[in-house]
Amino acid sequence: MSSIFTKIINQEIPSYKIAEDNNYYAFLDINPNAKGHTLVIPKNEVDKIFDLDSETYAGLMQFAHKVAKALEKTIVCNRIGMTVVGLEVPHAHVHLIPINSVSDINFTSKKLKMQHDDFVKLAKEISSNF
Ligand code: 5GP
Repeated sequence: MSSIFTKIINQEIPSYKIAEDNNYYAFLDINPNAKGHTLVIPKNEVDKIFDLDSETYAGLMQFAHKVAKALEKTIVCNRIGMTVVGLEVPHAHVHLIPINSVSDINFTSKKLKMQHDDFVKLAKEISSNF
């Protein structure tokens, strides 16, 4: 069965897209730790990030780098944090999170509540800086 992220790539499930190319896709996390929390994924579905072949892994990091730069341009923050967890969705991904303190990257902290229109506006802003 396809992962929820493969369904997002195939547009079977909607997402707030930031950017994509032939091999990678970036979109806003639906349950963000902080404003601009973005997931970057390879289009080829592999569960664990360190099971990616080295070329795909390096490409994922390069794509995430570009997304992080767009986030920095869009969101006032101390820096962009990057995390790999993968306990919820078995499709390799990195979390890029604009942070001001360590609690912004703590996945057990309270999540940010955002409305649909806010997600749409934010995705558009980040995307325009990509
Ligand atoms: P992890 O697998 O790294 O533990 O966490 C998966 C992340 O994916 C979580 O931060 C969660 O909020 C996010 N997520 C899960 N399902 C969806 C979804 O359908 N859409 C989006 N945009 N994010 C999702």
